[in-house]
Amino acid sequence: MMQTQKPHLIRLEVNYRGIFQKTLAYHISGDVVYAAHKEGKTAFSNGRYSDDPQRNGIPCANFAYFSKDLTEEDLEAEASASMDITEAEVVVVLDDTMVKGLEPWGGYGIRPINEKVVKDGVVLIVSNRKPADLIAQMEKKKFPYRIAILPGEASFAGLWYFKDDMTDVRVLGAIAKVAPEIASIDTVANYVASKYKSKEKAAAARKAYEEVKVSTVNAGEGIDWPYPKPILPGWKDFDEGVYVKGVKRGFQMGPRGQNRNPDFKRGTSKTQRPVVRFDLCTKCTLCWYDCPDEVFDPTTDGLYDVNYEYCTGCGRCAEVCPVEDCIVMVDELKFENQDSPYVLYKKDPENYVKWAEDKKGKERLMPSPVTGKGSTVSKVETPKPFKKGVVK
Ligand code: SF4
Ligand code: SF4
Repeated sequence: MMQTQKPHLIRLEVNYRGIFQKTLAYHISGDVVYAAHKEGKTAFSNGRYSDDPQRNGIPCANFAYFSKDLTEEDLEAEASASMDITEAEVVVVLDDTMVKGLEPWGGYGIRPINEKVVKDGVVLIVSNRKPADLIAQMEKKKFPYRIAILPGEASFAGLWYFKDDMTDVRVLGAIAKVAPEIASIDTVANYVASKYKSKEKAAAARKAYEEVKVSTVNAGEGIDWPYPKPILPGWKDFDEGVYVKGVKRGFQMGPRGQNRNPDFKRGTSKTQRPVVRFDLCTKCTLCWYDCPDEVFDPTTDGLYDVNYEYCTGCGRCAEVCPVEDCIVMVDELKFENQDSPYVLYKKDPENYVKWAEDKKGKERLMPSPVTGKGSTVSKVETPKPFKKGVVK
């Protein structure tokens, strides 16, 4: 009997933060398709069905398919009816804090960032961190794959308008390095030069090709995934119509005291989280009052606990808190869980303060997403010592 040969197919996923990185992700997933066309491949890209309308910071994804032997019709038949991609040879990650897990718009639970990568595939991350620090937050796989780091910060170039910082062409150059079977660096650089009429952009793509560092992640490296794996309902299982289940109004003092809708958890949308020095708090109520997501739970001693499962990391509370260093936004990758900081504080106030200062460190990051001029870091000289007498 004649064996049917499997068609040549490469699948690529681009993970990005909703709205902030939407334009950036669309540039990448569109341009990589055009570059592949230049080499005579069949290719197309699409946005994940469930991601629109998007919300700020929510993990979203585009995907793309490439083949050197399928016709356009056959490639479409193979892939275009999909609402999402199930496996990928190349997984691109535009914000490294997404390695903690993805909780997309559908809200069906927290997925590992490397969920879809296949054996010997590659996860390409824009990051200034070491591979080991990222792998330490990712799910362990039963097979080896590769991790590729393109040096850089999470770009918010696509916020409101496209303030170009060349992340799009740099990622294209990096894709040419980790998956030259999609398009070679020469093809990518020529495509970029002709599309943008810019030698600088083509040079940026070539430089990224050189800069990207690839290493192997062995089978079993990473963590046991701490969350239940989401099971998405098939289309026949969807309820008729669209509705949001209500939750009963309810309020009690103390951690997790307010009834919240579990479908609106936004834990994975944050790149930073607020760390509160309860011992410095003057109980002014401003954080509780101003938080757009009603994340603060009032407690019986007048302090305000943070429910990190619902925090978007917007930084508003840190902005309005009138006490210096009382609320500081800290890199999300420094935390292992979403536990209540107030409970930790009440257990051992002095130790909590040490823990909080350790997380805060001595540097304060000031992101500058709108100007696109990059982030600035300032040093903090002396973190305030534990102030006794606030806990009653
Ligand atoms: S960063 Fe602060 S204000 Fe923003 S959602 Fe989180 S707790 Fe609320
Ligand atoms: S804004 Fe700061 S001082 Fe005011 S209640 Fe919140 S943590 Fe306390």
